[in-house]
Amino acid sequence: MRALIFERRGLDNLVVRDVPSPTVDSGQVKLRIVLAGVNPVDLMAVESLPVSPLPHIPGSEFFGIVEEVGKEVTHVSPGDRVAVYTRLFDGTCESCLRGDQTYCIQGKRIGVESQGGYAEEIVIPSRNVIRSNLPDEILASLPIASLTPYHALRSVGVGPDDTVVVIGASGNTGIFAIQLAKMMGAKVIAISSKPWVKEMGADVVTDYNGAEGTIRELTEGKMGSVVLNSLGEKYWDLGLRLVGNHGKIISFGSLTGGKVQLDMNRIYSKHVSIVGTNRGNMGEFIDLERIAGNLKVKTWKVFDLDEGKDALLALRDGNRDGRIFIKVS
Ligand SMILES: [Zn+2]
Repeated sequence: MRALIFERRGLDNLVVRDVPSPTVDSGQVKLRIVLAGVNPVDLMAVESLPVSPLPHIPGSEFFGIVEEVGKEVTHVSPGDRVAVYTRLFDGTCESCLRGDQTYCIQGKRIGVESQGGYAEEIVIPSRNVIRSNLPDEILASLPIASLTPYHALRSVGVGPDDTVVVIGASGNTGIFAIQLAKMMGAKVIAISSKPWVKEMGADVVTDYNGAEGTIRELTEGKMGSVVLNSLGEKYWDLGLRLVGNHGKIISFGSLTGGKVQLDMNRIYSKHVSIVGTNRGNMGEFIDLERIAGNLKVKTWKVFDLDEGKDALLALRDGNRDGRIFIKVS
């Protein structure tokens, strides 16, 4: 099968090569991968994260069609389209038994600590897949781009009384954060310079320069009850200014850097909570798949497997205007 693979770190070492097709064990499924998403974690896997095994196939977000199943597999069959929960978990440790698969003691991220989805085929445990007939680009956005904000919003119990401020609203997770927060009944203020963000259903879209004043006016000074900052350092100060009394700042990404200065006066005087979240668990993934039929995605570019390096580089393109995908087969 063809795979996008690298032996040594660095985008220049990423090449398409024919590698042996993986074999299926009794509890596993082999998928023919259709479409894969491109996320910061994939770029980091090629450039800086410790990955295994080597040579390594990146790709942390994708979906596929079942090609072959192991003899113990009963819940999916060859030909099924499946959504893929892209974190490996053993199902037996205490975290797993409590439903917290994100923190499985034996857990691994597909595409980082195990071979990923930028390849024509992948073999993974059958417990990681569920049947789904969602559209291609939604299925390829479930494992990271939408599960991450879904878990984040659920973990602070977002509901109709909330005003959710989404920083980085045109980004991979921002697009879905807007839609999911709306589905949970919240008022959503999206911060972005892109006009199309309004189509994702935000009540108000404001640019970065006008954000503080606009939100102050809209909320009559109360500001956001929940502020999502998936971009990190560059917008940390802004996030602190936009959160109201008893508000929560959620962080699940650090594309602009992860080191910030913390003015404790601003934290305690407003009774602010800072909440770190990380992807989501299997139960949330199943719930998300059920409600994802109404989600929209904004696609910017679709690359072929041969153009993997360009696809990853496009993440850093200042003109990026929506999601980037790799069409695998
Ligand atoms: Zn476990």
